[in-house]
Amino acid sequence: MSKPRVAIFDFACCEGCQLQIVNLEEELLDLISAVNPVEWREAMSDQSDEYDIAIVEGSITRPEDEERLKEIRTHANVLVALGACATTGGVNKLKNRFDISDVKHCVYGDAADMAHLDTALTKSLDEVVKVDYKVHGCPINNKEFAYIVRCLLMGKKPVIPTYPVCVECKMQGNPCRYEFGEICLGPITRAGCEAKCPSGGFWCFGCRGYVDNPNVNAAKAIMTQYGKTIADLRGRMLLFGSKQEYTP
Ligand code: SF4
Ligand code: SF4
Ligand code: SF4
Repeated sequence: MSKPRVAIFDFACCEGCQLQIVNLEEELLDLISAVNPVEWREAMSDQSDEYDIAIVEGSITRPEDEERLKEIRTHANVLVALGACATTGGVNKLKNRFDISDVKHCVYGDAADMAHLDTALTKSLDEVVKVDYKVHGCPINNKEFAYIVRCLLMGKKPVIPTYPVCVECKMQGNPCRYEFGEICLGPITRAGCEAKCPSGGFWCFGCRGYVDNPNVNAAKAIMTQYGKTIADLRGRMLLFGSKQEYTP
């Protein structure tokens, strides 16, 4: 049986999620030996329009990106969105909230007039094409990526957590960040990172996107219990919450 042909593409992003793939080291060699890599700009010079699986990192920020992504979709049987930029628009979606000239001045300062920044709204991949699987996080959990790829190769549907980060956080035995007067998005954020941030003494800022059915009332109750406001919660949600529908 021939190995599936895999191509990796990137759009607007920091390429940190591809770096996480490279960081798989020995496990990466096992994965690569099970597929036929035909395009990966970071690792090889070959290019191809013939592939079965497209793994796409980054968000869509320009009309020409939309066209390129649609073209990729026509070639791929399976399209995997890699990382928060691709799955939700990630931090890139912050651009949508501001006047584009303010954004340019904030980023480029005195050189703002020389910078080209498209006025098109930033989009996640699934706002442009059908996405078959999502690898969440900023950056991704590379073990989860390896698991999803293995599932694809075996023809199985990967199981992605539908419960919140708090579940993993409690299993790690972490003290809750609310006890330190902080605002943590763990109650509404999709698990799968082993509560990386609270385990390191930091709040969850929601990089894996929200759970499918966030418990809005529980989130509000937590804010009230700890003397916080809904505006505080919304403020914390700005960084990664620009796409998602959930508004407490
Ligand atoms: S999701 Fe985060 S780490 Fe991954 S490419 Fe986007 S900004 Fe970089
Ligand atoms: S620190 Fe955050 S993730 Fe952990 S239990 Fe508290 S609210 Fe949940
Ligand atoms: S704890 Fe939250 S912000 Fe940190 S990696 Fe997990 S989902 Fe992302």
